[in-house]
Amino acid sequence: MMRRLVFILVLLEIYIVKIAVGNKVDYSGQQVWRVTPNSPEEVKSLRELEEKFEVDFWTEPTSPGRFVDFRVKPKQFFELANALNRMSGYEIYISDVQSLIINEKLSHNKRKNLGKALASSVQAFDYSQYHPAKEVYQWMDLVTSEYSFATKEQFGVTFEGRPLYVLKFEKPSAKSKPTIVVDALIHCREWITTASLMFIFKEMLQNPSFTHMMDEVNWYFVPMINVDGYVETWIGDRLWRKTRSTGPNSNCPGVDANRNFDSYWSNEGASGNPCAFSYYGPTPESESEVRHLVKYVMGQGKIDAYVTTHSYTQLILYPYGYTSTPCADDAVLNATSKLMHDAMKAVHGKTYTYGPSSTTIYVTSGTTTDWSYDVAGIVQSYTFELRDTGRYGFILPADQIIPNGEEYLAGLEVLSNYVRDNYEGSGM
Ligand SMILES: [Zn+2]
Repeated sequence: MMRRLVFILVLLEIYIVKIAVGNKVDYSGQQVWRVTPNSPEEVKSLRELEEKFEVDFWTEPTSPGRFVDFRVKPKQFFELANALNRMSGYEIYISDVQSLIINEKLSHNKRKNLGKALASSVQAFDYSQYHPAKEVYQWMDLVTSEYSFATKEQFGVTFEGRPLYVLKFEKPSAKSKPTIVVDALIHCREWITTASLMFIFKEMLQNPSFTHMMDEVNWYFVPMINVDGYVETWIGDRLWRKTRSTGPNSNCPGVDANRNFDSYWSNEGASGNPCAFSYYGPTPESESEVRHLVKYVMGQGKIDAYVTTHSYTQLILYPYGYTSTPCADDAVLNATSKLMHDAMKAVHGKTYTYGPSSTTIYVTSGTTTDWSYDVAGIVQSYTFELRDTGRYGFILPADQIIPNGEEYLAGLEVLSNYVRDNYEGSGM
């Protein structure tokens, strides 16, 4: 009897896992390997692997001594291992990508079955789990229905026709205030970006320790830039990174939206191959999401800071991405980054390395931060790379959303105070 029950339970478990995941793309058996190149030649060889094996780099080859994570298919194991053993060797960092994806889905479904997915108020919303696009849209409506100073503005549509929204938090004030724009999810597999920021904005609305941030600064929050891609990560391919646009000349859909800005577009650190993960697109701002975001931000008054949110590797990056020549504001950006680093570390002891994007990670072109700094003229321009440092990579367990949110909030509070203290007003 007992044995039979166990058998039935096992069958049920397999069935639940199958329906629970439901994603069309299966990563069973795929692994994430970590290599630390020892020389510039090894960095170059790793880059060449990208073309040869169409490897999905989770962190890019940058410089000797800095680790590189990439996803490997079982059929590539032998050949890649041989190639890497001729270099510094490798370490298996995630032994089965699919099992992380299954665990993530099971934990989500468990909460959903407890009735925690839908919320009746901003406070009752469950910030300790990831939410699909539909629920993020619902959360925006909860916010605007509860707070009269919060407005939702549509600034465009995605390639597949979904609305692009910004939430504007403009508390009434006797004098004019500075403005900070924060965005998330331009790379749609980086789920932690939106999840942690929804928690952060709830804290700024409700936690007396942080409500001063909205008293002193106007906040424009774009919670989902790449909505189409985000929907794909929930129902199709959990590790999708690009947009979902299709062009006439390629079988590979999507563009890396963070290589598509009209700022040193189509240069080093981006690919012209439509099938590559870092494809810069057929033209600058070819992507509906990028084009509308740019138009919207340029149409606002003065913006005092622009923060774009990514994961993972725990970094605070500022311009430039396209060149190792320091930007004109290097000293001030470095000083503010250090303060943010200190505040973030004080929360849970996590280190966020900071510096210019090109020398801290690698050269990139056509990115949000170079565009916001050079084209939009916003000096305080940052890219935050959130948790972790590779144990889970993009499939960060939901129990890290709130701790990660708490430390990111500490960094944003420093930035909020900085723009408040350096604000010269609009002359009113
Ligand atoms: Zn990213």
